Amino acid sequence: MSALKKLVIIGGGFAGLRALYKLSDYDYHFEITLIDSNDFSLEKPALPEVAMENKDESEVKITLPPVARKSKAAFIQDEVERIDASNQKIFLKSGKELEYDYLLIASGAIKDYNAIKGYQEFGYSVCDNKEAKRLHEKLKDFEGGAIVTGAAKSEFGTLIDAPNLKAPCEGPIGEIMFMMDHKLRKMGLRDKSSITVFSPSKIFFEDVGDRARGVVAKIMKERDISLLTNKELVEITKESVIFSDGSEIPCDLAIIIPPYKAPKFIAKSNLGDDKGWVPTNKEMVHINYPNIFAAGDCTALAQPKLGHIAINQADVAVSSILKAENIEHEEVKFNPEVFCIMNMGGFEATLIYSNMLFGGKDDLAWHSPIAKLMKTSFDEEYHFTNGHMPPDIMTKALESLLIQFKE
Ligand SMILES: Cc1cc2nc3c(=O)[nH]c(=O)nc-3n(C[C@H](O)[C@H](O)[C@H](O)COP(=O)(O)OP(=O)(O)OC[C@H]3O[C@@H](n4cnc5c(N)ncnc54)[C@H](O)[C@@H]3O)c2cc1C
Repeated sequence: MSALKKLVIIGGGFAGLRALYKLSDYDYHFEITLIDSNDFSLEKPALPEVAMENKDESEVKITLPPVARKSKAAFIQDEVERIDASNQKIFLKSGKELEYDYLLIASGAIKDYNAIKGYQEFGYSVCDNKEAKRLHEKLKDFEGGAIVTGAAKSEFGTLIDAPNLKAPCEGPIGEIMFMMDHKLRKMGLRDKSSITVFSPSKIFFEDVGDRARGVVAKIMKERDISLLTNKELVEITKESVIFSDGSEIPCDLAIIIPPYKAPKFIAKSNLGDDKGWVPTNKEMVHINYPNIFAAGDCTALAQPKLGHIAINQADVAVSSILKAENIEHEEVKFNPEVFCIMNMGGFEATLIYSNMLFGGKDDLAWHSPIAKLMKTSFDEEYHFTNGHMPPDIMTKALESLLIQFKE
């Protein structure tokens, strides 16, 4: 029998875990190593609940070492500093070096809080566990006031043909505005508070079509949530937020999504596009290296930056790795679409499904307690199965439900 091929996965998030689980079926062919700078995988879609509901931090973390062990993979907790793609080597912060035959980069995106002046002192966010906890603490003694929420502008390269969104993920802003509205009503503070949303784009929720946007806009109006577009955040002060056009609005609590940046090691390894994101073809193969694959938020193709797209890309990358080794399998194609369930607090959520950004015709938003039930079930299922996606039967049930709306 020939020697096992060394396959390294960088990042144990949505994309990395999906790929790990799929590839572990081929342990007779690959020797897999998972590297992550943390010893846990963070379930980011559940972070708004840590901040604004009472979800415990432990409920949004999956411990990686046992997950790797069960998947017959080695786990290294370390930070990747550089890759030497010509010599197929990875250099880690600890000084260790690692060789690979195949490499899957699934390292997500960095949230650059420091790019916004005043953030550390006056700004809040829900983008990681520490920031979600910090906001949770802040809300304990919040007495009402002007709440401002929105995403800062991010920058993407031009090498790969993908939608160039100014805000790569406004779904969490939708959750923050509606969950805050619900929370303030419950606390008896809604009359003493205003909620203003800003977007760096001309259009809020730029990644969906008019129909889905219309549903969200209608609920915003009903809930007295106002919107400012074309606003690029530059600074947060004690009593205001300041935009790049010089305008300033009063603010007692700013909850933002900071700019997304590509992890530094990608550019340092000469593996990035003009803004440092991993350039791949639609088979998720690096444009210059046939043995380097990428999936998820770190890729130039992932627009918007969504877990749903990360999972599809991980499936495509696995399919391409198997193809490179001539292993028979069902081929998976890149099929980007926006699918997410926006928690609105209480028993409410809105399911959003749209492929209009990619030339499709589907565009819907379904506001219903059933959507909330689906969101809760997904989060619980994902957590208790250590990052497995729901079984195929649930995907089929969802598809049949969506067909009803399309007709
Ligand atoms: C608040 C919030 C809510 C969201 N809600 C939704 C939602 O409802 N639906 C949805 O579809 N999407 C949602 N998203 C987006 C979704 O979470 C991301 O698209 C998804 O996590 C991307 O997966 P990934 O595997 O590419 O990256 P990540 O999940 O970010 O994982 C990357 C991993 O790589 C590791 N890593 C990074 N750099 C290095 C390095 N140098 N060395 C070693 N390891 C490294 C990190 O530690 C991390 O574990 C949300 C995002 C946020 C912030």
